[in-house]
Amino acid sequence: MSVLLHMEKIENESLTLKGEISLSDLEMETRDELIKPAGPLVYDITIKQDDESIILQGSLKMLLQCECARCLQIFEYQIHQKSWNCKLALKGEDSMEIIHGTADLTPYLREDTFLAFPQHPLCESRCEGINQVSTDDGNAPLSEPSNKNVWMELDKLNIE
Ligand SMILES: [Zn+2]
Repeated sequence: MSVLLHMEKIENESLTLKGEISLSDLEMETRDELIKPAGPLVYDITIKQDDESIILQGSLKMLLQCECARCLQIFEYQIHQKSWNCKLALKGEDSMEIIHGTADLTPYLREDTFLAFPQHPLCESRCEGINQVSTDDGNAPLSEPSNKNVWMELDKLNIE
């Protein structure tokens, strides 16, 4: 379901909207191969109107499936914007689109969830990369220990 706001409902009072938007309704295109949305966008927002804008406040959540940029391990990552807020203009060039008294808030929720995606997904902040992953079956390491320096160099780059 898209998040539709009937404008007359916020003329005199604030409105709370809760629910979730399925991935198919979100039509999210993943820009990063390492990150895939894995669950619906869950929202719990309060909407208020003032003279020239409407204000959205609340929380946005979404589960992601990420691939660690260093060791390629798959892990889950929960986006949780606890105090999200967004101001949408009712007048002027950048004003929101209102059709027959109804505004679709879905694009705004989607865009801000996108912005909360991790820039550089890591299974843990101290992940040292694929060379450090121990193998359960006791096979020989995949690469020579001398390669470790390469990862140390990468680590330096990541910090900068
Ligand atoms: Zn990792």
